[in-house]
Order: sequence, then C-alpha cells, then structure tokens
Amino acid sequence: MTAIALFALLGLAVGSFLNVCCDRLPLRQSIISPPSHCGLCGKKLKVVDLVPIFSYLWLRGHCRYCGARIPLRLPLLEVGTALLFALLCWHYGLGPQLPMALIYACIFLVVFVIDLEHGLILDIVVYPGMVLALIFSFFWPELGWPGLGVLSALLGGAIGFGLMLVPYLVSGGGMGGGDVKLAGLIGLAIGFPYVLIALLTAIITAGVLAIALVASRRRSRKQTIPFGPFLAAAAMVALVWGHPIANWVIGIF
Ligand SMILES: [Zn+2]
Repeated sequence: MTAIALFALLGLAVGSFLNVCCDRLPLRQSIISPPSHCGLCGKKLKVVDLVPIFSYLWLRGHCRYCGARIPLRLPLLEVGTALLFALLCWHYGLGPQLPMALIYACIFLVVFVIDLEHGLILDIVVYPGMVLALIFSFFWPELGWPGLGVLSALLGGAIGFGLMLVPYLVSGGGMGGGDVKLAGLIGLAIGFPYVLIALLTAIITAGVLAIALVASRRRSRKQTIPFGPFLAAAAMVALVWGHPIANWVIGIF
C-alpha cells in the first residue's frame, strides 16, 4: 500500500515532466532548457509554481504573474500519470516488469496528449519507443504468447504495422502514417497476440465515439477524430488486462 502511494507521488512528478514534453516536442523545442515558464507572459516559474496539482489549485488555475489561465491539461495529465503509476505498481508489484511498464505508460501518455491536441504522432517519440521496446522484450519474455519470448515482440510489431498499413494505403493518406508506426510500436511493446486486442479495442472505442459524436451533432460526418489517442489508451489496457481479455474472447468462441 505504501509502495502504491509512493508510485502515485512519483507519477505526479513525472506527469509534470510529461506536460513539458507535450508542450515542447510538437514545437521541436528542447525538453531540458529553458526552465519552465508561463506560456503567455514567459515569466520563469518558481519552484512553488511547479508543485504538481497543488500549485494549480493554490493559484486557482491562473498564472501568478499575468493571470493567464493555466491549461486544464496540466493538472489532468499529472493526476492521470499518478493514477496510471499507482495502477501499474498495484498490478506488477515491485517486480522487474514495473519500470518497463512505467516507461510504456509515459510514452503512450505523451502520444495520447500530443495527437489529441495537434493531430500529430511524432517520430521523435515513436522511434526511441521502438528501440526501447525491442530492448525490453529481452527482459520481459513472459509478455505475449507463452514460449515465444523476443519473437512475440517482433511478430507483434510486424502485425501491428502490417494491419494498420492496409487502411493507410487504401485511404490514400486519409489516415496518418503516424498511426501505422504507432501500431508497430505497440506491437513491439506488448507483443503478439495482445497487439490484436489493442487494435480491436481502439477500433471499437473510436467507432463508438465517432457514431456518438455524429449522432449528438457535436461533429459532422466529414470531421475526423485522431486515432492515436485510442491506440495509445488501448495499448495500456492490453498491457495490463491483455491476458484476461484474450481468455474472455477465446471463451466466447
Ligand atoms: Zn504568465
């Protein structure tokens, strides 16, 4: 219990860093320097302004210096990261998989936010993620089909990439190439057969949401919604619950 609380706190701090990544990576800025500053007045933020969540609540969501509204995404991502870190600590315990799962969570959270806000899936996030996933697969042989080991990751990557390549080629650019690479990364990370669960979950949830948005007239039929956030979220679901979901699906048939 103490460990879960500690990892939630770690998640708050890491979430604060992920916010910096989400702000700067799409603009091709360094995530290390300059230090955090207000997005509007540019004033350098002090340590007291940077305490996750508490600064936001204390300042009531406004910049201390110019009064500009602080985007709600900042506290949301901090809390989201904290909850995800707590969940992963609870799920994996303090085993060797935990640090790898935490890093996957960070990658998929950044992909989720940047695609939602900019409609972009950045190579600078996906490519290093692929390299890490390939390395991790040597240390996490249980992930994926029993006995396949590293092959499960390679197979998963090929299947993810290949399955998304088809709609990409058919749509003639209607779907972004970033989604194809992201599906490859997800396959490498969570392996075969869980990549299939992730893809299926993403397609079903995106479809349901798209129908709901069109039906409620919040979106026209021609407006597209980015698919990356669904893929990223589904990847985390399949990472944690892939095994029971697979058993459940097999049970149905
Ligand atoms: Zn300001």
